[in-house]
Amino acid sequence: MTPSTDRNEALFERAKQFIPGGVNSPVRAFKAVGGTPRFVQRAQGAYFWDANGQRYIDYIGSWGPMILGHGHPAVVEAVQKAVLEGFSFGAPTEREIELAEEILSLVPSMQMVRLVSSGTEAGMSAIRLARGATGRSKLIKFEGCYHGHADALLVKAGSGLATFGNPTSAGVPPEVVQHTLVLEYNNIEQLEEAFALHGAEIACLMIEPIAGNMNLVRASVPFMRRCRELCTQHGALLVLDEVMTGFRVALGSAQSVYAREIPGFAPDLTVLGKVIGGGMPLAAFGGPRAVMEQLAPLGPVYQAGTLSGNPVATACGLATLREIRKPGFYEALSARTRSLVSGLQAAAQAEGVAFSADSEGGMFGFFLLPELPQNYAQVMKSDNARFNQLFHGLLARGVYIAPALYEAGFVSAAHSAEDIETTVAAAREIFRTLQKQ
Ligand code: PMP
Repeated sequence: MTPSTDRNEALFERAKQFIPGGVNSPVRAFKAVGGTPRFVQRAQGAYFWDANGQRYIDYIGSWGPMILGHGHPAVVEAVQKAVLEGFSFGAPTEREIELAEEILSLVPSMQMVRLVSSGTEAGMSAIRLARGATGRSKLIKFEGCYHGHADALLVKAGSGLATFGNPTSAGVPPEVVQHTLVLEYNNIEQLEEAFALHGAEIACLMIEPIAGNMNLVRASVPFMRRCRELCTQHGALLVLDEVMTGFRVALGSAQSVYAREIPGFAPDLTVLGKVIGGGMPLAAFGGPRAVMEQLAPLGPVYQAGTLSGNPVATACGLATLREIRKPGFYEALSARTRSLVSGLQAAAQAEGVAFSADSEGGMFGFFLLPELPQNYAQVMKSDNARFNQLFHGLLARGVYIAPALYEAGFVSAAHSAEDIETTVAAAREIFRTLQKQ
């Protein structure tokens, strides 16, 4: 135990007695990288402080939501005001309409939206809606994409295209995933084969457009184009999971990035989370009116939530969206993020370390690999031990990146040029000692 982590260590020991693994979400436990998780005491701007009072430059930002940085004054004020008006009513509020209007004005593929409390809930509900609206059962997902922990999505590829997936978690009966087909990301040939075999039975294809759950891997433009074409051709719904990319990679979300390359590109359904709640439990799914009106109370697809559209969460989300739509916001955020990525790239090159990196808007990913991977299997060729050395080296120097090599990172509007310089300098020191491959 190093003196600098002792209070984190004590809290971790205490937490483990009462909370499985000491954490309320597994990746927080540092299982992949080893060591003691930092227990956060408070956060402000681009930083958080742990239980020892140690400061870290935060490149996780609650896994994406904190695009403005922590404790943005306009957001804090909106939340404080909302709290005084009441925590939860279980009855509609005007603020829900305002948030819906704000979201729909920024993502024009959505004509209606329903608010829920987590990305898992939003993804699960979007699939139920797609199945209800098409009257079909089967769905396609891709290896390395994460859409929350709904049973039907905790699945890995079966032995071939004719066989459907196998559960990746205990407690998920094989029958529950028997309708889920898992394909390789960016593999057009396999996608075409799957539609040729099962097209008439497929309710939806769900995809992270810029996958952030295998570090950062973009769907190639031809692949995304083919996803759109095949869904249209076979009457399946294209569901973009933008829980991570929504309002993170661009004001119009990842779909606007693809629409620049694919004229008229739009998904049928969009799943949102993270940024739209600004750090509060809030997520959403939406799409065309005719599909969304299949939901209860209008239609036969049931979906509900005691805390859905929570007044404090909607105040937080609304205040966040109003900040990010200010002119120049994404230009500045993208430039800052690019400066981190290019700085890391230059540092790695100077030290002779194989390195590749990418970013879009305020989302970035890097690999200790000479070239950017295109799918999950390629991501998993990364060397864990070297990543862990980098992770712990950065942590010791006050820089907090995701504690697993298969997670993307996030820059906020609060990260300064100096924060980026400090990070790059810290990384360079570690690159110098990193075992070359
Ligand atoms: N979809 C994506 C793309 C995600 O990154 C996540 C969470 N990281 C989810 C869905 C699930 O969201 P939540 O953790 O809010 O349930």
